[in-house]
Amino acid sequence: MRNIQNVDEGERKGDKLVACTLNPVNSIFNDFEIECLKPLEKKISLAELGRKIMANQKPIDSNKKYTVQEYRERSQDVKTYALLRADGICELCDKPAPFIVGNGVPFLEVHHIFRLADDGPDLPKNVAALCPNCHREAHFGWKREKLKNSLYEKISLKNRYI
Ligand SMILES: [Zn+2]
Repeated sequence: MRNIQNVDEGERKGDKLVACTLNPVNSIFNDFEIECLKPLEKKISLAELGRKIMANQKPIDSNKKYTVQEYRERSQDVKTYALLRADGICELCDKPAPFIVGNGVPFLEVHHIFRLADDGPDLPKNVAALCPNCHREAHFGWKREKLKNSLYEKISLKNRYI
């Protein structure tokens, strides 16, 4: 959300101030991924969630942008989709999640294969639910570029509903 204000005093008098909200795009060491576990408590099937995500797609030629709220909700659905699709198994190494969190959900982190900041689509085919080791390797491993392409291919083959 943008908020433009006029500066009424001081050396910058007459200037305009633009206040913006910045959202992190590449911070993997925060709680962002963990938040996506909560909606799994709701009972929804992979097929239902896939239909919901596709129904909420904006036409490509639309000039209408998502509101922050719409974006977050859709983004949350895409992450939930990846977690449901993974069903507790890391989508890279195919091993079970390393532990179970408090609500009984296997702990996996959702990774954007192609970063949203680099115009990666916010769609299930662009996210993978990974164990923490694989997630770190996807970001920092010396083979990360090769891994990115093979992960994208693997996820494309797994996507049954989208
Ligand atoms: Zn893994």
